Amino acid sequence: MKGALKLGRISGIKIEVHWTFTLLLLWVAFIEIRQGSDFYRVLLNEALIVVLFVCVVLHELGHALTAKKFGVKTKNILLLPIGGVATLEKMPEKPLHELLVALAGPAVNVLIAILLVLVVPIRSYFNFDSIVLEEMLFEPTFQNFLFYLFIANVMLVIFNLIPAFPMDGGRVLRALLSFKLGRVEATNIAASIGQFLAFVFFILGLFFNPFLILISFFIFFGAYGENQMVKQGALLEGHLAKEATLTNITKLRPDNTLQEVIDILLAGTEKDFVVIENDRIIGVLTQKDILKNTKTPSVLVDDIMQRKFQTVDVSMEIMKVLQMISREKNNFFPVVENGQLIGAIDSTNISEFILLKTSSR
Ligand code: ZN
Repeated sequence: MKGALKLGRISGIKIEVHWTFTLLLLWVAFIEIRQGSDFYRVLLNEALIVVLFVCVVLHELGHALTAKKFGVKTKNILLLPIGGVATLEKMPEKPLHELLVALAGPAVNVLIAILLVLVVPIRSYFNFDSIVLEEMLFEPTFQNFLFYLFIANVMLVIFNLIPAFPMDGGRVLRALLSFKLGRVEATNIAASIGQFLAFVFFILGLFFNPFLILISFFIFFGAYGENQMVKQGALLEGHLAKEATLTNITKLRPDNTLQEVIDILLAGTEKDFVVIENDRIIGVLTQKDILKNTKTPSVLVDDIMQRKFQTVDVSMEIMKVLQMISREKNNFFPVVENGQLIGAIDSTNISEFILLKTSSR
């Protein structure tokens, strides 16, 4: 993600923090200073945020490492001011696996809370009346620090288990529904509940905490997106790349000039091209490569094409092609049959294919 700073790798998973996270630290400092807190208290609160986000990373690692057990890789864990996001390559499709992956995150915070109970006399805090407690908690002591951390972890568990898909609780809900209903219907129900709760969060956010508004957007669009994806997946099941392949494509030669390519580009609807030489694919020229070099129209395709490219076999499932598109951050692939070029595939054509399938239902 843009604006993310890499912190390191744990078990092959990139841990990153987004720059807006510093805004959270500044905001907390600002609130504390305005309340007249001394330097030590400000420092303690900042430390609390940092340690809390370490707990969030551990939570996300709970998801990621459990997913790994079921053969699902995680690209990265990104820390945002509203929390952490582990980007799994996909969600495990077996309900039991999804259930365990979803529960593993909150389970980490339960574990941290239990460990803190062993170290901090938590119960003693609840023996005081609220005025004494407030005064006591205001003292910037290490024990109070741990107490806050305990409360924060408990809150994380409760908040994450709200069944607002795609939050953890919502995933638990979908997994449980999937045992009885199909995955498509289960997702549809979970996403509807998620979107309703997002709306509730939005309203609450207007009155209480602006962070809830941010989270509500995250949930609303997350639920919508995943619901679409699952529907698409069901629609595309069993369909192969062959069916969505553009077979009527212009093949470029390495000695074509860029000007010739621009002429083809303007005359038709093709944006990306396959370059061949002696019936062999030797490169790909994308719209991006073309736009980058428009100042030198006499340059040869050979000099600006991408020599590293992947091909799609006609027998590959379209769903796999979509995964490839999002994984490779590349939108255009030559399609081959028995090693021979027969066309190309891109997301626009797949969308068209989906549209046709949807309307012919
Ligand atoms: Zn989680």
